[in-house]
Amino acid sequence: MNDSSESRETSVANSSKALDDLYTTLDELDSIHEAAHAVLTVALMGASFHCVELPYPTSAGSGGGRSRRFDRGDDSTALIIGMAGAGAEILHRPDIGWSWTSRFQSSARGDWKLAQEKINRLALNGDRKQVIKDAKAKTLTYLAGHWDWVLSVASALRKYRYLGYHEVVILRNQPL
Ligand SMILES: [Zn+2]
Repeated sequence: MNDSSESRETSVANSSKALDDLYTTLDELDSIHEAAHAVLTVALMGASFHCVELPYPTSAGSGGGRSRRFDRGDDSTALIIGMAGAGAEILHRPDIGWSWTSRFQSSARGDWKLAQEKINRLALNGDRKQVIKDAKAKTLTYLAGHWDWVLSVASALRKYRYLGYHEVVILRNQPL
């Protein structure tokens, strides 16, 4: 083996490692996003929560995670649950300094689209911007209050890819 083929192999190994690292980072971020929807659903709506899942073996930023509940809840609760994914990404990576807008234009694009109808109804007799501002503030407050729980659910979700209501409840009191 000459020097050049050796360095090529090293470089392939390094880029494969870099790709693995990227997938791991994206999967972690997706798990935090979905865990936040799940935890705030259980915190605010209890057993209305059904399950949370992530694509197997990796989500890798696909946005393919889902958190399901049996009923939608009132508009202000549903808005907070809907904003939880974006809010958790912001809290999880303060080093990046993400804005709500950047999240709503990328990873939480679908959440933002679904939020419009609720925001419009909540703002019927008031200020749309204020409704959004209040929902963001409440979302961050709830997430901060349940942050250990969000991290436990995210970690279990990365491992098992699916968690039902009882598993999410148990993880509240048994952090990993
Ligand atoms: Zn989401």
